[in-house]
Amino acid sequence: MIYADNAATTKMSESAVNTMVSVANMSWGNPSSLYAYGQKAKEILERAREDISRIVGAEPDEIIFTSGGSEADNQAIRSAAEIGLKKGKMHIISSVFEHHAVLHTLEALKKDGFEITLLEVYENGIIITEEVEAAIKENTCLVSIMYANNEIGTIQPIREIGEICRKKKVLFHVDAVQAVGHIPVNVVEDNIDMLSASAHKFHGPKGVGFVYARKGISLSRLIEGGAQERGKRAGTENVPGIAAMAEALKESYEKMEDNASHLTKMRDRLIKGIGEIPHSVLNGDAYKRLPGNVNYCFEGIEGEALLLLLDDRGICASSGSACTSGSLDPSHVLLAIGRIHDVAHGSVRFSLGEDIEESDVDAIIQSVKEVVDYLRSFSPVWRDLISGKKQFIL
Ligand SMILES: *Cc1c(COP(=O)(O)O)cnc(C)c1O
Repeated sequence: MIYADNAATTKMSESAVNTMVSVANMSWGNPSSLYAYGQKAKEILERAREDISRIVGAEPDEIIFTSGGSEADNQAIRSAAEIGLKKGKMHIISSVFEHHAVLHTLEALKKDGFEITLLEVYENGIIITEEVEAAIKENTCLVSIMYANNEIGTIQPIREIGEICRKKKVLFHVDAVQAVGHIPVNVVEDNIDMLSASAHKFHGPKGVGFVYARKGISLSRLIEGGAQERGKRAGTENVPGIAAMAEALKESYEKMEDNASHLTKMRDRLIKGIGEIPHSVLNGDAYKRLPGNVNYCFEGIEGEALLLLLDDRGICASSGSACTSGSLDPSHVLLAIGRIHDVAHGSVRFSLGEDIEESDVDAIIQSVKEVVDYLRSFSPVWRDLISGKKQFIL
């Protein structure tokens, strides 16, 4: 099997699995208990918090553990909205191609009376910093922009946007779920006030993540209950998962440069190979993108059919995000960068993992070429295109 869907989830690293098992076996006490056995779990929890905070440039007490990226996005955005509401500021700026954890939270806030501005992204899939600045109003309480897009991998000018938010005294939240563990992220250098991350996107376990909130920014609770996480997130902490997340993040950071340089080579090889297919287009900027992300549209085929046939050949990829597959709507991200419905439907995303080899990339290229040819051979849309009945778009 060639697993090329690391933006959906990653395989846990061996050391993350070992950490999880060993904490579950050896330190299963409740970190809120006062006896030594509970305090041992507490120590593990706090060491994980220190390790994670150091890696992203935060202080330990600026990190709150959550059940993953979605919860972190919800909590950060709702907290900023609540802070805004107290000051009578009810305008939020974000972008059309955010993850649904962000977009759906904003939709809910809209029903509560907040005004939401969603910035466009253009064909390269990158937010224009000046447009963020121009959109900020007297009553703007939050700007929320993702670090790197989960579908097309494009990396946003986070530091510059952060600088503008600082200047305008507007809170800046960053969904960094695709970035943390893969490219350098530092909340201080990047001028980030709030950040979301998720362990299973960097070889940690599923169901665990964290939200960073800069000192002085009060997080509101999504879950009521006990006083865990300084009263900001009730519920007995997932100590084995959190310890494994810290382990996975440390490992990712140690290997980041080597991994990124290898992945970039593999990515560019794949982009070049697939690019030889006629009437195809790379989605998102060719260079300002995550080291492992390749996303293409092909005219005259259905992405879902392509995926199934690739699966038959042992290749795991995705079309659109896992959250939207199963629905008939094409990806909101591909529509946002200007792909029309028909073209957006013919998309495939490969998100490569660090252990991918050149021979795997070549096998993917070969398979994609064959499968696209095969699907086109009986596609009525393709027939109309080559007979001239319909105009090619790509
Ligand atoms: C995966 C992902 C999320 C959601 O994270 P979960 O831990 O699966 O809840 C949020 N934002 C982005 C950009 C993602 O890729």
